[in-house]
Amino acid sequence: MLRRILKAQNLMDCACRKLGRQLNIMEVCGTHTVSIFRNGIRPTLPKSLKLLSGPGCPVCVTDQGYIDVTVELAKRDDVILATYGDMIRVPGKSGSLEQLNRSNVKVVMSSDEALNLARENKDKTVVFVAVGFETTTPATAVAVGQAADENLENFTVLSGHKLVIPAMKALLTDKNNKIDAFLCPGHVSVIIGSDAYKTVLDDFDVPCVVAGFEPMQVIEGIGEICRQIYKDDIKVESIYHAAVKPEGNPTAQKIIDQYFEAFDGPWRGLGNIPGGTLRLKEEYAQFDAFKRFGIDQVPTEELNGCKCGEVLCGLIDPPQCPKFENTCTPDTPIGPCMVSSEGACSAWYKYGRRRRRRRKQA
Ligand code: SF4
Ligand code: SF4
Repeated sequence: MLRRILKAQNLMDCACRKLGRQLNIMEVCGTHTVSIFRNGIRPTLPKSLKLLSGPGCPVCVTDQGYIDVTVELAKRDDVILATYGDMIRVPGKSGSLEQLNRSNVKVVMSSDEALNLARENKDKTVVFVAVGFETTTPATAVAVGQAADENLENFTVLSGHKLVIPAMKALLTDKNNKIDAFLCPGHVSVIIGSDAYKTVLDDFDVPCVVAGFEPMQVIEGIGEICRQIYKDDIKVESIYHAAVKPEGNPTAQKIIDQYFEAFDGPWRGLGNIPGGTLRLKEEYAQFDAFKRFGIDQVPTEELNGCKCGEVLCGLIDPPQCPKFENTCTPDTPIGPCMVSSEGACSAWYKYGRRRRRRRKQA
């Protein structure tokens, strides 16, 4: 293992020397961000190699307007709002779902649990707060299919599902972007396949390397990016052979396509990304909470000067936000990046604090 680490570090040094300036690699996935912190990878990298935490956490990229919609829906007595845990703590313009403190807000672990709520509460409309990337969308699609088969008319989906590739392209299109390469998300790639990144490569010619979440995978993923830069051999590569195939998972892709279609939907900090969000197809409109409740979701400004948008685009590190660690902490989060366990602000806070505590004790 030591030999592999040294080889990767040597490639990093070579790439940095060749570039002669700071090399910026964005880890798209929130789980990579956490793995990098947890395993103390950052301090071992060359000084001129910088990791940028990207828009890889489903809670963090969910637009402010969507949060406000969930809070408004939860105020209705005829609705049961079924949501994943982290979403209840993200503040909207009139507080968070947690602060609303209503018994009709139910935390679920899966779309299946939301379906059960609909089966057990026929007098209410269940709204499933469906966020996540290609990893979670197939399960939502299956739930809609199940609801259709059972004629479960009181089950609806508030789709905030997102697609990773359009977001990567949107990031590179921004003239202020500093991204030289992507460390591509592991779980999403299991579904979409490593070949899916070829369109990013074709349009922008940046290295796209898929890696798993173990520290050795992350280090070798960064090493492979650096090899490509050093050797001038820019391409799509996967080193996560155990789980990711070039073609991905066609069954999961098919089920997403059967129920969902892409549209230009809002992302936090990135605005409307062309083809970046999924909504239910017209055939399944009766399960679409936006349509059932006549809601038009529009991108909204972030609240209280929160800089999550800039963090998600890799334009600033969390400590550059004036609220970081001052008014914004995991106990008093101002933005989703401090709420979610996969959020960049929460990771910087948690692991930075540990380091500071260790330094104090030494
Ligand atoms: S859904 Fe999977 S790929 Fe996406 S951020 Fe979470 S762990 Fe990473
Ligand atoms: S520190 Fe808080 S307010 Fe600042 S960007 Fe992060 S979550 Fe938003």
